[in-house]
Amino acid sequence: MKELEERIRREGAVEDGDVLKVDSFLNHQMDVGLFAAMGREWVRLFSGEEINKILTIEASGIGIACIAAQEFGVPVVFAKKSRTKNIAGDVYHVEAPSFTHGGVSDVIVSKRFLLPTDRLLLIDDFLANGAALEGLIELAKQAGATVVGAGIAVEKAFQPGGKRIRAKGIRVESLAKIKAMGKGQIEFC
Ligand code: 5GP
Repeated sequence: MKELEERIRREGAVEDGDVLKVDSFLNHQMDVGLFAAMGREWVRLFSGEEINKILTIEASGIGIACIAAQEFGVPVVFAKKSRTKNIAGDVYHVEAPSFTHGGVSDVIVSKRFLLPTDRLLLIDDFLANGAALEGLIELAKQAGATVVGAGIAVEKAFQPGGKRIRAKGIRVESLAKIKAMGKGQIEFC
């Protein structure tokens, strides 16, 4: 998606550790007009697919997923990263390593909000090693829900996540795919 690529070119900053900083429009300050255009692009890409719910993970997926959900006309559920050691109650639960913060998070979603009849679109801001998406896929599996596909804003194609998720047979639609990046330089696929 040209508009997103241009924004990344103009405002993105490459940090150490293969982290792209896009906090002026994507995951701190948020350009909701851009999010709506991204949502419409996913609606176009997944047209013909039955999707009744969007599933994302806190925190930075939520804004993008909400605006996308508005374009799809479906509800959005976000998986919560729990800090409590004792995971109790009626929740699906998975452990997922964090790319940006290191360590492992307990990721949970209430059993009330993921149903075996659900046909889910997973949404997230970045795809790097694929752990966040794998966590969401595992939560969907626990619920017996169907994953129709994943909509990603920025896929860092030089990292293994995209390959890993597509190898599971899951359709991944990334709106900007980065082939390589370094200080002051970003190359798209
Ligand atoms: P993965 O689980 O695929 O390794 O990483 C995906 C998650 O890590 C995303 O939810 C995102 O929040 C964060 N992330 C991964 N790479 C980047 C990056 O280059 N920049 C930013 N801002 N977040 C990233």
